[in-house]
Amino acid sequence: MNVTATKELRFSCVSTKQFTIALQNQHVWKCVYCNTIFGRRGGLRRHVQMVHMQMMHKCPIENCTHPGYKCTKALNAHVRTHTRPFQCDRCDASYTRKADLQNHLTLHN
Ligand SMILES: [Zn+2]
Ligand SMILES: [Zn+2]
Ligand SMILES: [Zn+2]
Repeated sequence: MNVTATKELRFSCVSTKQFTIALQNQHVWKCVYCNTIFGRRGGLRRHVQMVHMQMMHKCPIENCTHPGYKCTKALNAHVRTHTRPFQCDRCDASYTRKADLQNHLTLHN
């Protein structure tokens, strides 16, 4: 059986106890982009092509391992985390300095 993965279809086989029991000791396949589990490699392949192989917007930051986003809005939000690592978990605000975020957080109280 030829199981060579192509460049754009990267498969990772997960076989945790839980999943192997659930799938009757079959190998399960995990999407590297969204972690969805599939019982068949063909199912994963179709999923990756359908869901992740459409127009992907890659992160422009060098060395970023993120696979990319389908919409630029989500990508922009991600890119911001590289330059503004302190993000508010209650709204879209993000800051370069922790003190600024802490200052912002008081607004939510
Ligand atoms: Zn996926
Ligand atoms: Zn990135
Ligand atoms: Zn906020």
